[in-house]
Amino acid sequence: MSKSAAVMVAGAGGFIGGHLVRSLIQEGYTRVRAIDIKPFEEWHQLFSEADNRRMDLRDKPACEAATQGVDSVYNFAADMGGMGFIEANKALCMLSVLINTHLLEAARIAGVSRFFFSSSACVYAAEKQVMTDVVPLREEDAYPAMPEDGYGWEKLFSERMCRHFTDDFGLATRVARYHNVYGPFGTFEGGREKAPAAVCRKVAEAKLSGRDEIEIWGDGQQTRSFTYIDDCVHGTRLLMASDVDEPLNIGSSQLVSINQLVDIVERIAGAKLRRTYKLDAPKGVRGRNSDNTRIQTRLGWQPSVSLEAGLEPTYRWIYDQLAMSPRRAPQTDGAVVRP
Ligand code: NAD
Repeated sequence: MSKSAAVMVAGAGGFIGGHLVRSLIQEGYTRVRAIDIKPFEEWHQLFSEADNRRMDLRDKPACEAATQGVDSVYNFAADMGGMGFIEANKALCMLSVLINTHLLEAARIAGVSRFFFSSSACVYAAEKQVMTDVVPLREEDAYPAMPEDGYGWEKLFSERMCRHFTDDFGLATRVARYHNVYGPFGTFEGGREKAPAAVCRKVAEAKLSGRDEIEIWGDGQQTRSFTYIDDCVHGTRLLMASDVDEPLNIGSSQLVSINQLVDIVERIAGAKLRRTYKLDAPKGVRGRNSDNTRIQTRLGWQPSVSLEAGLEPTYRWIYDQLAMSPRRAPQTDGAVVRP
């Protein structure tokens, strides 16, 4: 795509959306429209080079305005969070279907040439994720459908809608199933954070306060793979530029237990903490890993940043945020744009 093409990023004030905007601007795209519902001071990253707009994309007229004159759309906007959030807010998670529905319809009417949807490994059938030494999930494992209740159903439905907008209306869509993305500028507190950020925060808080204890959700033996943000953005851009019109896993295949995740963060921090296990906390499935056969075959690439390498900058960033006062001013490479 030409660097003068107009690209719209929905959910640009969030974690992945912010990094995607950064990558477009760094590559020289001159017409990036960045949209989020949050006030600008709450955006994780804000770039003066982008056309930043505050809009509620659940509303169809907002989606129509957002897609006007746009060549391609990346949709990262969703009301979501880690397991603690999605298990307690199923209806809210499902309401994100309004964003994708109205954005797809607006994109179709506006003649957008390509539409990206950020789906999730939560679409996979729960019965295939009951063991810690889980068989990595292949894309076809999403059916017969029994996804994560609430959030996973919304993602699976929205994936199908992308497919049928392609089949019936000719709108080219690309769908990634992300597996636990982490990195600097991600949410690490407030209840929406995911395991890597939560563990980094807890270890950093222990270091800063001199405490020697960490609380772990579950028994620590549940397993996951965690994808570094640079791999996520690179894979997303490759998928968007490709001719792959079926959902693709974008996920690391380095399977670790939560205890091993804590081991790595402790090593980075130079800490050794006493572990307590909160067995009644939200835990999600027992094990989940990404099978990368299809992405390797179709894109000739798969995520490769090791958890050790990705957690190093993530921990340092979270530690700095906690140590800094006042906390959490919007981060930017260029001038901060104020509303
Ligand atoms: P995030 O919460 O940091 O970003 C989502 C952004 O969407 C937020 O800034 C939020 O304000 C915005 N938003 C919510 N409702 C909106 C609305 N009505 N109008 C406009 N903007 C709205 O999440 P993220 O981690 O960056 O995830 C991005 C996308 O990727 C989401 O769709 C998420 O479901 C998906 N995903 C993420 C992960 C992960 O590990 N981070 C894993 C699987 C899928």
